[in-house]
Amino acid sequence: TYVLLNHDITTRENVKIDMEDRGYNFGDGIYEVIPVYNTKTMAMEEHLNRFEESALKLEIQLPYDKETLKQLLEELKTKNNITNGIIYVQMTRGVSPRAHLYERNAVGLITGFSREMPFPVEQKQTGIRAYVTEDIRWLRCDIKTINLLGNTMVKRKATDHTCQEGIMHRNGTMTEGSSSNLFIVKDKLIYTHPVTNLILNGITRQIVLKLAKENGYKVVEEAFTLQQLSNADEAFITSTTQEVTPVTKVVGDIETDIPVGSITKALQQLFAEHVKNKTK
Ligand code: PLP
Repeated sequence: TYVLLNHDITTRENVKIDMEDRGYNFGDGIYEVIPVYNTKTMAMEEHLNRFEESALKLEIQLPYDKETLKQLLEELKTKNNITNGIIYVQMTRGVSPRAHLYERNAVGLITGFSREMPFPVEQKQTGIRAYVTEDIRWLRCDIKTINLLGNTMVKRKATDHTCQEGIMHRNGTMTEGSSSNLFIVKDKLIYTHPVTNLILNGITRQIVLKLAKENGYKVVEEAFTLQQLSNADEAFITSTTQEVTPVTKVVGDIETDIPVGSITKALQQLFAEHVKNKTK
């Protein structure tokens, strides 16, 4: 198995991270998860653009250009013989004596791995249970940072309530999932939170919205409330690893049962066709 360390595709025993790496001390870094279908990456460009945007927002310098990173990640995936799975890449601000103040535009430290990972089959048909709780994260959820405690604490809570995902609200306004974007359908309209600092603009979210619009569905990028969620006709989450997965039961701050709806199924179908076309 190979991993990525800066410019090199190497093996894991060659990766030694300093105890004063800012990723380790402060969670000071960013990441991306890129899907691999049928040995091909999908939406690599979009993921690397977001990676670059996160880097810019945190003022971390990439050690090389996007094209080089793309080639290294492709090489990593190929050398590891990934058929269906993910490529993970992260960049921290690198090593400096522990202090809050960061040096602007220090060159980042990049690591990455790839692994085989089945995409969900059963959950996409039957749906998942979601635990709805307060969004305890910070106010820059638009940055795909490795500092994920708000997300991991919600995921823990969700699992403790036998749910597969935690979905979050700020004062009754739904934001997103702990590692996914959240959608509802009401009277044939598809609702999801607009792109602001309060959510991560998921690549899957963007693909699904584009496919929905192209196929005549009406999309409303407006925040919806807990109350609207409990009255929804359909609900689903999107993410690179979960694709389009229905939410069929909500517990926690509200409780409701939601059927797997026809628009959700149609979007799953459109997404599957999109994947097939892009990874032939
Ligand atoms: N929102 C959060 C908080 C996430 O962590 C993720 C993915 O990990 C997403 C949304 C979905 O993003 P994407 O579709 O790009 O995987």
